[in-house]
Amino acid sequence: MKRIALLGATGSIGRQALEIIDAHPELELAAAASGSEAIDGLAPLTQVGGDLTELLERARPDVVLNAVVGFAGLPATLWALERGIDLALANKESLVAAGDLATEAWRRGGGRLLPVDSEHSAAYQCLEGRDAATVHSLVLTASGGPFRGRGREELSDVTPAEALAHPTWNMGPKITVDSATLANKGLELIEAHFLFGLGYDRIEVVIHPASTVHAVVRFRDGAALAHLGYPDMRVPISFALTYPERAATPVPQLDFGSGLTLEFEPPDLETFPLLALARQAGGRGGTYPCAFNAANEVAVAAFLAGRLPFLGIAETVEETLAAIDGARAQDLSELYEADAQARRLAERTATAA
Ligand code: NAD
Ligand code: MG
Repeated sequence: MKRIALLGATGSIGRQALEIIDAHPELELAAAASGSEAIDGLAPLTQVGGDLTELLERARPDVVLNAVVGFAGLPATLWALERGIDLALANKESLVAAGDLATEAWRRGGGRLLPVDSEHSAAYQCLEGRDAATVHSLVLTASGGPFRGRGREELSDVTPAEALAHPTWNMGPKITVDSATLANKGLELIEAHFLFGLGYDRIEVVIHPASTVHAVVRFRDGAALAHLGYPDMRVPISFALTYPERAATPVPQLDFGSGLTLEFEPPDLETFPLLALARQAGGRGGTYPCAFNAANEVAVAAFLAGRLPFLGIAETVEETLAAIDGARAQDLSELYEADAQARRLAERTATAA
């Protein structure tokens, strides 16, 4: 029996996780949390908002599924990593913002970090059991979002409703906007760097509109292993929760008889500058990734509230990154200070836009 604490239980990942847990008698929901929605009776222990580590202390789960959105998920990520408790991580923002501190906590705790992000779950499976010396590079795929193929001038007046209409994945609003700007793939690039210990020059992003190939690992002998499947988050959620059993899911098998075509193209970094900005922030290290994430969260919220145009999201992040020193955070309080400073700068930039 695996006792699971599900954080972000009312969201897109949270609801799909509940379906997986319900279907498996060996998975038990020990605790559940949401940000503001009522969840009484959903689990033996529940919490709405507040400090999620209090819930985790009471629940003492075997696995923490962190499906909170944004930097708010950080304490739970660190709590699990520090204690060596299995962490099924959907909340990529926490690993991006606190990469160095989180990987140190992970090393000390010695537990498992199982990615729930589909590309990283795919990469994990392609890399599992391989000698790191044989790995050449990792390729992360991106659908390209609803604005793929458009030029900058065609994006100046797109609305939140248009940005929220994702072609292949049905997700919460923040990550859906991030997919439209390619900030999501930028966050995933940094996430992959910390998860797999690969330098940024060994992680490539390609656009793959069908979202059928989730990741590819190239090896030094010229072979490449890819992970394929229909775009359905229940697969990586189930993989992480039932690891290493790989339990069955209701997701249909790939059908090669129905004309499966796999197309790839390079990303348009001029139209979608957030991917290049993330690569730059990741390469600089220190608190640049934290500031990238913070400024992006502020800008996406302003865009969704109708206070900032679509192109203003990247401008806000770029100006914020230009204004900080990015010094490495020695501890968590310095990281929170870096996050808060980036939020203040981004708020000012977004308001002036
Ligand atoms: P969502 O907006 O649908 O749900 C977010 C959940 O977090 C909700 O349950 C909400 O109540 C909770 N929450 C928000 N703030 C909180 C707080 N301060 N304390 C506790 N709970 C809080 O988001 P989502 O699409 O399910 O995404 C969740 C995470 O998973 C994000 O980090 C996202 O990037 C990642 N992710 C999502 C998908 C997807 O398909 N939805 C795919 C890959 C990765
Ligand atoms: Mg993803």
